[in-house]
Amino acid sequence: MKNPRMIIQQEKLLQNVVQMVQKAQKHGVEIVGVTKGAGAHAEVVKTMIRGGLEILADSRLENLVRIKELGLAKELYLLRLPMLSQVEEVVRIADVSFNSQEETLQALSQAAEIQGKVHKVMLMVDVGDLREGVLSQDFLPLVEKALALPGIQLEGIATNVGCYGGVLPSLQQLELLLSLVSSVQEVFHYRIEKISGGNTATTILFQDRWPQGINQLRIGEGLLVGFDSTNNRALESFHQDAFLLQAEIIEVQNKPSYPIGEIGRDAFGRVPHFTDRGIRRRAVLALGRQDIDIDAMIPLLQGVEIIGGSSDHLLVDVTASLEDLKVGDILLFRLRYSALLHAMTSGYVDR
Ligand SMILES: *Cc1c(COP(=O)(O)O)cnc(C)c1O
Repeated sequence: MKNPRMIIQQEKLLQNVVQMVQKAQKHGVEIVGVTKGAGAHAEVVKTMIRGGLEILADSRLENLVRIKELGLAKELYLLRLPMLSQVEEVVRIADVSFNSQEETLQALSQAAEIQGKVHKVMLMVDVGDLREGVLSQDFLPLVEKALALPGIQLEGIATNVGCYGGVLPSLQQLELLLSLVSSVQEVFHYRIEKISGGNTATTILFQDRWPQGINQLRIGEGLLVGFDSTNNRALESFHQDAFLLQAEIIEVQNKPSYPIGEIGRDAFGRVPHFTDRGIRRRAVLALGRQDIDIDAMIPLLQGVEIIGGSSDHLLVDVTASLEDLKVGDILLFRLRYSALLHAMTSGYVDR
């Protein structure tokens, strides 16, 4: 068996999906399954469908192509704003794309007309996280443009927080979406169907009074790793170990914990810091930054602590481990979202 290797615990993933669908249903919310964190791996796609999801979403067209080939999803969303250079493929592959630029909408409309299709769009509103989307005062003008385009159908309104600015979700943001939807109804007599309130972070508002009318969330992290990075919380009763990474030990030695010699910068140009803990038992694993985000993984074995790493090596302190770890032994790790993202797209990790 090849290492490093990802293990997908499908039953746990399935339970996460089912739970999320049920929780959301109580609030009249449909869940769109976001596959980008798992590189749209076929087993993950199948499990999401089995758990009751009908719409799947990804930020990459390449991933949507793979999902489409499986023929299981009812609708495919392209989450990242389309590049002008890819509008033909976007219309061919995605049922719905997320947009904030008039030029792109025009190009999508033209491409759709040529293909004899109507392409559905969600218009993004930026409520403060400052990644993509128009500010709320620019929303109605964009709607007017979209409604005038023959190849485009305005399907919904969407917002996203907690990504660039780390802005926390709030009821006010969702109320803003609802008020924009009312304005569109008043001004253009057009009913916006889908009101897509956010991502995993937004599920924290289920605890509050969920605003009636917000009828969709797009969820990746919560389903895949049962965690919400923006709010830094594990989702209660969700599995955090649906994905495990296994890596192999290539050295075990007793060594000082403080490097010997003058300290410059590490392989990534950073100044490293060390505390002298005396002689420690350390293992080196055949796994590194080319495979994973080493700052976003948690060892399963008690007494194992990640102390650092480089492109191809992960260093762990195993002094406190009760197991007599040897070269050739395997260690397992739980992954946070960014580690999963890296591991599922690295060409070196077996899946
Ligand atoms: C990635 C992404 C999501 C999913 O976010 P999670 O935090 O993984 O739930 C939702 N919407 C957009 C636009 C995204 O890019």
